[in-house]
Amino acid sequence: MSEDCIFCKIVAGEIPAKKIYEDSDLIAFHDIHPVAPVHFMIVPKEHIGSLADAQARHEMLLGRILLLAPVLAKEQGLHEGFRTIINTGKGGGQEVMHLHVHIIGGGSQRAM
Ligand code: AMP
Ligand code: ZN
Repeated sequence: MSEDCIFCKIVAGEIPAKKIYEDSDLIAFHDIHPVAPVHFMIVPKEHIGSLADAQARHEMLLGRILLLAPVLAKEQGLHEGFRTIINTGKGGGQEVMHLHVHIIGGGSQRAM
């Protein structure tokens, strides 16, 4: 756990979140400021600052996040598809410095 990390505090249960999934390694919860009808994120419980801080030992964890994304997206009603966004570092617009994958859908999504 990293002190003053808001997602570590959510993992520790110190601040509330609208959780939709949890296991020993991962947690998923709704974004507090959704940008679409469905907007949640999948977060590793281990504090990894960003994708740029991920190590070879995180290979399985990163794979698990990506495999979980479509399962939770369907559970949240996103049967037509969804966007997956990982902001990395200041240059990537990352605001919370604990690795997370945004899953967004349900509105009209602009293709990139
Ligand atoms: P990013 O720019 O990828 O770092 O995005 C961080 C996201 O975390 C933003 O979309 C915020 O709305 C979201 N966020 C910040 N604090 C919380 C919180 N306490 N619970 C849920 N989502 C949060
Ligand atoms: Zn953290």
